[in-house]
Amino acid sequence: MLELKDQFGRVFPYLRLSITEACNFRCQYCLPNGFQKPCDMNYLTQSEITNLISAFAQLGTKKIRLTGGEPTIRNDLIKIIGAIRDIKTIETIALTTNGYKLEQQAQSLIDAGLDAINVSIDSLSAYKFKAITGHDKLQSILNGLFEVAKTKRIKIKTNSVLLKGFNDDELPSILRMVKNNNITMRFIELMRTGDNKEYFEKHHLSTDFMSEQIEEIGFKRISRNSVSGPAREYAHEDYEGRIGIIAPYSKDFCASCNRLRISARGELKLCLFGDGGLDLRPFLQSENQIDELKLLILKTLKFKLPTHNLAGGYTGSTKHLAQIGG
Ligand code: SAM
Ligand code: SF4
Repeated sequence: MLELKDQFGRVFPYLRLSITEACNFRCQYCLPNGFQKPCDMNYLTQSEITNLISAFAQLGTKKIRLTGGEPTIRNDLIKIIGAIRDIKTIETIALTTNGYKLEQQAQSLIDAGLDAINVSIDSLSAYKFKAITGHDKLQSILNGLFEVAKTKRIKIKTNSVLLKGFNDDELPSILRMVKNNNITMRFIELMRTGDNKEYFEKHHLSTDFMSEQIEEIGFKRISRNSVSGPAREYAHEDYEGRIGIIAPYSKDFCASCNRLRISARGELKLCLFGDGGLDLRPFLQSENQIDELKLLILKTLKFKLPTHNLAGGYTGSTKHLAQIGG
């Protein structure tokens, strides 16, 4: 059977699919000046997405994460989720969102068959949240999150980019949240991208101190499964939720890479911090091209490098993560 395996023996059951580059937030580390509309916003259509995911599913992909930009900006998001749900071998459909519509959209996302949601919440202080994102939406996003949480079936995670001098003192409020809520709250180490050099130099902070504090409180590291995200997750018997740490600069981060990425324009990206991407779009136009598409994906996978070179300051062609979905 054809399998998504690279020359280092890594397999890729997890696909991150960006469905738009557009975003309505202005996160300081990502799009500080807001989304600048390009002349061409010709993103993958629903039928191109279906053909793409069918090909990946036939190659063993089990988990799809929809991301962006802000994926909930697309009016056909619910239909896209429904179409993926119809591909029977896809076991998990996940969404990464800034949550700005979550309060209104929670029920339709649940009904469409979403399995997992990651909501970006960089601060649990309304004032700081607004300062980072440009929007006074923290309470509404939390309301949406708790609405989704009523459906025990859906796995909920939050993402907070750890920012020196800004939200690096928020462990106590995170602990209060995970005490009685079955949510995994994750700290992501700020990554350097093409556009954020100055911001990175000012706010980058290693997550090591956070792992130490969590372990001191008695949280224990738990093991990953084959479709897990990149986080190290920690659990504690007195806490319903978990804490996660994503440390892309840590040694061996790439050794357990299990995911590939597709941009909103249909390019296959082998690494978040790689160069360019292979345009799959000409092969997404008809179901009859799926076999050809599968061979092309397998051939391209041979070029996946063992690791990124972020520590050496190399960010590849990624100007900001809204371009490819993180
Ligand atoms: N708009 C959605 C959101 O914010 O969740 C999805 C796209 S966003 C690019 C995906 C994730 O990447 C978010 O959790 C965001 O905080 C994170 N992110 C963006 N830029 C980052 C950076 N430079 N370093 C670390 N994480 C970043
Ligand atoms: Fe938009 Fe997400 Fe980037 Fe924030 S992190 S600007 S919400 S794409």
